Amino acid sequence: MQPLHVYVHVPFCVDPCGYCDFYRGPHRMDREKTFVRALTGEIKMRLSERKRLDTLYFGGGTPSLLSDESWMEIFSAFRQHAEIFTESEITIEANPASITVAAAKFWRGIGVNRVSVGVQSLNGDILLYLNRIHTSENALDAVRILNETGMDNVNADLIYSIPGQRTMDVIDAIDRLSPWIDHLSAYALTIVPGTPFARRGVTLPDSDVVADQYERIVDRAAAAGLERYEVSNFSRHGAESRHNLNTWRYGACVALGPSAAGFDGSRRYKNIADFLKYAKAIQSGELPESESEEADPSTAFWDRLMLGLRTREGVRLSPDERAGLAAIADSAGLGDHLEWTENGARLKPDKIVLLDEILTRLRVAAPCR
Ligand code: SF4
Repeated sequence: MQPLHVYVHVPFCVDPCGYCDFYRGPHRMDREKTFVRALTGEIKMRLSERKRLDTLYFGGGTPSLLSDESWMEIFSAFRQHAEIFTESEITIEANPASITVAAAKFWRGIGVNRVSVGVQSLNGDILLYLNRIHTSENALDAVRILNETGMDNVNADLIYSIPGQRTMDVIDAIDRLSPWIDHLSAYALTIVPGTPFARRGVTLPDSDVVADQYERIVDRAAAAGLERYEVSNFSRHGAESRHNLNTWRYGACVALGPSAAGFDGSRRYKNIADFLKYAKAIQSGELPESESEEADPSTAFWDRLMLGLRTREGVRLSPDERAGLAAIADSAGLGDHLEWTENGARLKPDKIVLLDEILTRLRVAAPCR
């Protein structure tokens, strides 16, 4: 039986960040109770086979806003419908403002072994600009508390390419965080339509500046013992995110919660991005989906390539696919950008920064698109 990977979207935040387009709404206890009731119903609907749970990831939104009672209820539902082991990787995303010694001990006690902290920056002005609700001191305290209370794997999220941000700010943040973390995610800011930043007409720094910041981040993370294993992700040896690796390997993932997007290996679905409609569908005994489609085999190859080439391990390919990709890469003039592995292909480390451009050129050179 295939091990199970599960994602849960927790749709609450205190105050929206300027750049964020994730589905979320204000947090109140009555809304939290409605969500937990609906989520436990969805767990029962979707996890009928009681499989071995490999990874469970609570994202959002802000999962760390949930009360201890809600966590107990959610974990009790998971334990009834899946086999959870000490080796299961269980991650929650947390805002630094909600991380206390008591919270960290409680999460550890219910089985959480990985916490991903939304640090984003350690510069107070940048945090205000992003409309984050925490200070840089909160963020440093948070990673230190998690480390000292024995969390197995602590991740810090950082954002770069923010207007007005100095490269030194990001480098300095890596230096100050690295004693306490096992994993680092560094994402370039993007301006997504519909967000406060898009409405304000925020413009991003020049692409040369962004590329230079990225290269400096890769070097500084490596100097701190955090090696890049995916375009935006860095870890100490053995601390890679198994949950995210499954996604980059085109693995199946059961997604739960409003707006969550899942994949069973052939069918993709998206849950309703409306908290009350989501809860109502489950109450009526219906799957709370707004979209569902079978993955098209012709696009599956490109999806696998797009995901796999993001990673250090690369994409797994059959011998025929390998030969096909070699021909496409040659005709695109990219043969020297790839390395061939026993089971597939990967990008040469110095070409990863060109990932988007390489994928576009491969698509254009492919005989059938
Ligand atoms: S805390 Fe996270 S999910 Fe919530 S608004 Fe900010 S970035 Fe978005």
